[in-house]
Amino acid sequence: MEAIKPIYEEIENEINSLQHGVKIIAVTKQVGIARTQEAIEAGIRHLGENRPEGLLNKLSAIDANVEWHYIGNLQSRKVKDVINKIDYLHSLDRMSLAKEIQKRAEQPVKCFVQVNVSREETKSGFAPEETLDFIKSLEAFDKIQVVGLMTMAPNTDNDSVIRDVFKTLKSLQLRIAAEQLPHAPCNECSMGMSNDYRIAVQEGATFVRIGTALVGAESEASE
Ligand SMILES: *Cc1c(COP(=O)(O)O)cnc(C)c1O
Repeated sequence: MEAIKPIYEEIENEINSLQHGVKIIAVTKQVGIARTQEAIEAGIRHLGENRPEGLLNKLSAIDANVEWHYIGNLQSRKVKDVINKIDYLHSLDRMSLAKEIQKRAEQPVKCFVQVNVSREETKSGFAPEETLDFIKSLEAFDKIQVVGLMTMAPNTDNDSVIRDVFKTLKSLQLRIAAEQLPHAPCNECSMGMSNDYRIAVQEGATFVRIGTALVGAESEASE
């Protein structure tokens, strides 16, 4: 596989030329521990995993000063296994998950509320018009801090469709931030993956989640 460092530098430079201050999450779900270590040595400080097993496997082997992002669907029964080990959750997509986090978290957890902007049945998350009400209903949940919104663009080659999805998320994020809810500063926008991170950055992403284009995919990496 190609070395990560030059790829990371190229992606970082490209993103910086569009917008400063965007944080890059290396999604390591398709690579093993050695490749994840290489990412850390290349200077990457944010790592993303989408399954409890993958996260715990990496955490047990890697002791580094990095931030761990849980980016995938989280089953309620798995909350207790991961919630006190992560720095950010990108997939707060239902009230039952919020309740379980409130029950299990020892410290407030930085959460992104997932929004299904494209309204695909296969995607989880709130419809845009439901999102503010859901966030308001979290006021009494002292273990949840809503730091921002997250979405996934549809899988299409049509850039204007993708751009519209990101524009919608950004305007919703700004509108919720303007409410100045103490439990929901909502200053962050988690959007953009390998195929669409440039568009996401142009439309105001503050975190991008890049897997294959940055660290690659190892078929033999089971977790
Ligand atoms: C896998 C995944 C990514 C990264 O996908 P790539 O296309 O490999 O960059 C980003 N976000 C989520 C939620 C994912 O599951």
